[in-house]
Amino acid sequence: MPNRTNPASVPSYYSATAHPWEGFPALEGDVLCDVCVVGGGLAGLSAALNLAEKGYSVVLLEAAVIGFGASGRNGGEVISGYSCDMATLRAQAGDDAARALWDMSVEGVEIVGERVARHGIACDWTRGYCTAATRPGHVRGLEDWQRTAASVYGYRHYQLWGRERLATQLASERYHGALFDSEAGHLHPLNYTRGLARAAQAVGVRIFEHSRVGQLMTQARPQLSTSRGTVRAGEVVLACNCDLGELVPQLSRRIMPAGTYMVATQPLGEERARSLIANNMAVSDTRFVLDYYRLSADHRLLFGGKVSYSGHEPRNLAAAMRRDMLRVFPQLADVAIDYAWGGFCDITMNRAPDFGRLQDHVYYLQGFSGHGVNVTGVAGKVVAEAIAAETSRLDVFGRLRHRDFPGGRRLRAPVLALGMLYYRLRDLL
Ligand SMILES: Cc1cc2nc3c(=O)[nH]c(=O)nc-3n(C[C@H](O)[C@H](O)[C@H](O)COP(=O)(O)OP(=O)(O)OC[C@H]3O[C@@H](n4cnc5c(N)ncnc54)[C@H](O)[C@@H]3O)c2cc1C
Repeated sequence: MPNRTNPASVPSYYSATAHPWEGFPALEGDVLCDVCVVGGGLAGLSAALNLAEKGYSVVLLEAAVIGFGASGRNGGEVISGYSCDMATLRAQAGDDAARALWDMSVEGVEIVGERVARHGIACDWTRGYCTAATRPGHVRGLEDWQRTAASVYGYRHYQLWGRERLATQLASERYHGALFDSEAGHLHPLNYTRGLARAAQAVGVRIFEHSRVGQLMTQARPQLSTSRGTVRAGEVVLACNCDLGELVPQLSRRIMPAGTYMVATQPLGEERARSLIANNMAVSDTRFVLDYYRLSADHRLLFGGKVSYSGHEPRNLAAAMRRDMLRVFPQLADVAIDYAWGGFCDITMNRAPDFGRLQDHVYYLQGFSGHGVNVTGVAGKVVAEAIAAETSRLDVFGRLRHRDFPGGRRLRAPVLALGMLYYRLRDLL
């Protein structure tokens, strides 16, 4: 199982190549602030940064270390849209809300580029991404989406590539075509997350690591307790991915932790790396349980995929991931895997994001469903707007309906695993 408590034991490529990190102290004693953010991942940091830029005094509490969760372990792919398709959002929220949601997802990508430039975050930010079709019929689906994206959402950065055009950029026989997006891209997620933490600190956010919130009392002025301190805050933002647990059971019932996994190859050298992906784009495929991959700045292949609802890591993770990688790039048969790791995504029943206000003074950001690197940027922005009494954009997310997972805490994983069988079989057909 991906380690949930000990940051030193995340054996990821990102930890091994991160910039030096002095860290932050643990909370000791009692502090007061306007807003307390819980969770030091991209969602919490984005909220904290936006709030401090608006002039609020902000405290951020992180149970482990900054970027310990999904934000420091992910594929680093920064892609417009959400984990569910736009038709799902449109069916739930209507045409105007769907357009606003799409625009916000694109804004999420822009926020990454803007923050990297403004705060000088060294995280290998690179433009270019494609969705590669594993079935001929999927190419038609990509073509339909390109048309809808342009005509309904005004998004004109897609190029539809046939098999031959794709083969000039991606040395894999596996695909029938692709949709290339020149605006989307990829980055080193742990360095980006830590860069955001430094940017937040620079505008006055007080950050505490090793400070798990064990209790949230929500009287007139919310109070949060860690093992060695308390925070009394005017407002609270919960950004805990799948770890909310007993802190707020009515929110955590709507979330299923889904494990997903990555490997990094040995360095391939620039020439061999570019022989795989000539234009250095990130890639994911069109299957439900998808492969996602890209090159690192030091010319490795970073390859992700698989999903597990049991909380257990697949047996022989590196070997299992290597098999998947060789299905895409059989030419890497002689290449060693240097790192293998995993993390958890907070998926919702409909894969739509779940943001809102739980009650007076308590806001939450969850349900990124494996598509959070862009969406966390805008999530932090809209929650900061809502706290500053501009609620219209958070209200758009509030129109999405979310249900508890069936089966309760004990049975929801097997129930979902059963449902997933259908999608896995469909991927094989
Ligand atoms: C292997 C993997 C690959 C992925 N690839 C991509 C990708 O390529 N593109 C993409 O868009 N998305 C991807 N994702 C999803 C993306 O990483 C997440 O959606 C995003 O990082 C969520 O950010 P977050 O801040 O909500 O959660 P996290 O980064 O998990 O942060 C939550 C933090 O809250 C802390 N916390 C929890 N409970 C408490 C508490 N009680 N008190 C204090 N702190 C607490 C945790 O320690 C954690 O650090 C991937 C995820 C994984 C695991």
